[in-house]
Amino acid sequence: MEHILKVLKDSFNIDSPLLSSMEGYDSTNYKIVTGKGTFVLKMYQKKPETIAILKAEHKILNSLGHLGNCGFPSDILSNGGDYLVYSENYIYRLLSYVEGSFLGEVEQTSDLLYSFGRFLGTMDTVIFQKHHTAISAKESQWDLKHLKKNQKLLNFIPDPKDRNLVDYFFMQFDERVIPYQYILRKGIIHSDANDWNVLTSNGKISGIIDFGDMCHSWLANELAIAVTYVMMGKESPLASTIPIIKGYQETFPLEEQELDLLYYLIAARLCISVCNSAYSKTLKPKSDYITISEKPAWDLLRKWIRINPIKAKDTFRAAAGFPISTKTVLETQLSRRKAHMGSALSLSYSKPIEMAQSAFQYMYDSDGNTFLDAYNNIMLAGHCHPKVVLAGQKTMARLNTNTRYIYEDLLGYSDKLLSKFPPQLDKVFFVNSGSAASDLAIRMAMAHTKKKKIMVLEHGYHGNTRIGIDISHYKYSKNPGLGKQDYIIDTPVPKVFNSGFKNEALAAKHFASIAMGQIKESMGIAAFLAEPIVGCGGQVPLAKGYLQYIYPKIRAQGGICISDEVQVGFGRLGDFFWGYEMLGVVPDMVILGKPMGNGHPIGAVVTTSEIAASFDNGVEFFSSFGGNPVSCSIGNAVLEVIEEENLQKHAKDVGNHLIGLLKGLQNNYPEIADIRGSGLFLGVELLDKKGGPNTKLAAELKNGLREKHILIGTDGPYDSVLKIKPPLSFSKANVEELVYEIRSILEISSKI
Ligand code: PMP
Repeated sequence: MEHILKVLKDSFNIDSPLLSSMEGYDSTNYKIVTGKGTFVLKMYQKKPETIAILKAEHKILNSLGHLGNCGFPSDILSNGGDYLVYSENYIYRLLSYVEGSFLGEVEQTSDLLYSFGRFLGTMDTVIFQKHHTAISAKESQWDLKHLKKNQKLLNFIPDPKDRNLVDYFFMQFDERVIPYQYILRKGIIHSDANDWNVLTSNGKISGIIDFGDMCHSWLANELAIAVTYVMMGKESPLASTIPIIKGYQETFPLEEQELDLLYYLIAARLCISVCNSAYSKTLKPKSDYITISEKPAWDLLRKWIRINPIKAKDTFRAAAGFPISTKTVLETQLSRRKAHMGSALSLSYSKPIEMAQSAFQYMYDSDGNTFLDAYNNIMLAGHCHPKVVLAGQKTMARLNTNTRYIYEDLLGYSDKLLSKFPPQLDKVFFVNSGSAASDLAIRMAMAHTKKKKIMVLEHGYHGNTRIGIDISHYKYSKNPGLGKQDYIIDTPVPKVFNSGFKNEALAAKHFASIAMGQIKESMGIAAFLAEPIVGCGGQVPLAKGYLQYIYPKIRAQGGICISDEVQVGFGRLGDFFWGYEMLGVVPDMVILGKPMGNGHPIGAVVTTSEIAASFDNGVEFFSSFGGNPVSCSIGNAVLEVIEEENLQKHAKDVGNHLIGLLKGLQNNYPEIADIRGSGLFLGVELLDKKGGPNTKLAAELKNGLREKHILIGTDGPYDSVLKIKPPLSFSKANVEELVYEIRSILEISSKI
């Protein structure tokens, strides 16, 4: 303190002041109270660039002084006639103290926020036009246009899910903001109008302090930063931006293009904030200050991902008086679809949804609504997961070819994928869909066994190819014309619920005896094919013990056993990575698809060396796209995300939470007759009062949830089973929301 007192006395004639420390980022700050008034003394490390910046800052504060109010700090001249005082290692400056209460400590009324917008706009009319080399040369990682400088801090965020959320917004920044970087207006902005830098008095903004983050950046960033802090902790964040934008537009209007990027610029500020907090925490692990101050930024970031960017854009546009984006009319889109798509292609919901974007467990429609996705199991890691998207983009820009060449992507991915299987399943054939995989599996089974018959379960679905339909009871049984092919043997699903059997063992024995009878009569079956949980059949897990009867019988008569893991595979079941593990068997062949590429078309057949060798029968197997480098990189990224985010355990925890809450509902609503499945692959069977399938209630729930912006499916022979199989980014809070809405629909329905 001695040196501070000395500087005050020698350079500013200030004797025995009251001195207290203040928060400072790149300087050490003291509040100085004297008989002559209140001041702020700032002390900086002596570096040439700091001197240049402080000189530029001085000029800018001087010109702001001409605005005619005392809302900005001003430099106090020292006895030496300069406003900077130098010691051997430090620079000191004394600033006037700007009075007022911080925006962060007063009630933020709409009038106050409007005045905030006007204040900022007025300030920017002065500073944005200035030119100062020292400020243009600054490259601060807090400048939103340098967001990506913060990427190096990403690894300081301990939770991989949080990290990937931030990474998602980095990716969106590259996609949506960077293309405009050379056409956005640039000039000097304050760049840190947060609520602890902004002062208020009598319900109006009266001043702003801390020009240390001033930089030469995009004008839109000024408003983005200001609204970010105002939104923190607010019930309806978007609504609180409206008065600020209005006020700003009246004084220094942003152009439409600038305003349209605001959603992503706000996200950028939040990302910078959380990255820097994470980093600071590693330097000061015990700091409550960092923990407390990072929370509102995380809270807002998690809220932000739930806000449809189109809704945000339109809110900002409306506030600024710009026309909102032109909406496509659903009827027009439907008639365009009808013109080119066959009517066999169905649409979900009587009022279909036009989807525009998606992120993790959220989908954004073109009307600005956000849907919570409890249905799309393909997006295992979450919609547009940055690791997966970037893996595909990078490889696509490097190499895309086919398996007739050698490339690391294929070798590395096969290694990683096969490491998830027992050693005897050591060969993989890549294709582009679950259907192509099923089709290939049947061909391989026939080639290996020299037999023709295929045994399948009732209500199963395995694909859309000619063979796919032949083996899918779910399809061929629906259309009498299609019918069952001669080479198909179908057998009832070994289910427990509503089958009259008290437990799994009894059900398994009963259904196995039927199947074993059929096997005996068959005169040679090439393959027995089943899903571990029959999805289209209404999420029915095979009774435990069933496959232990069937697999040996099939093998004994020369056939092979195939597990279709297209729906349930890759960790979704929580306790098990693959469905066959849940049932205690090891198949001879596995069919993979859907979640394997998190939305990218990739499928595979995994089998033994012996079966693979039988397929090498002089006819080459080739798939133009199967196993291409892009698909392999994507598949590999999916496996990495499953590991990094511990998604299998997450599926178990969140799934158990969901099962628990659904069981709670079951006590009050007997229509919920059965809750089954594992992890985040669940089915809820609904029965009516007479014990029959409650198709009506299932439809009411599906459509009612759609109105509440939650997506789920229905299936089963009577369409009376709710299918819940969300992206694995689905959280416990999402579960609670889903169950809350199911309850509210059941409540209304039970009163009718
Ligand atoms: N098997 C199962 C169990 C499936 O659910 C599906 C698709 N619903 C397929 C195979 C076929 O996959 P795809 O639609 O990718 O061709």
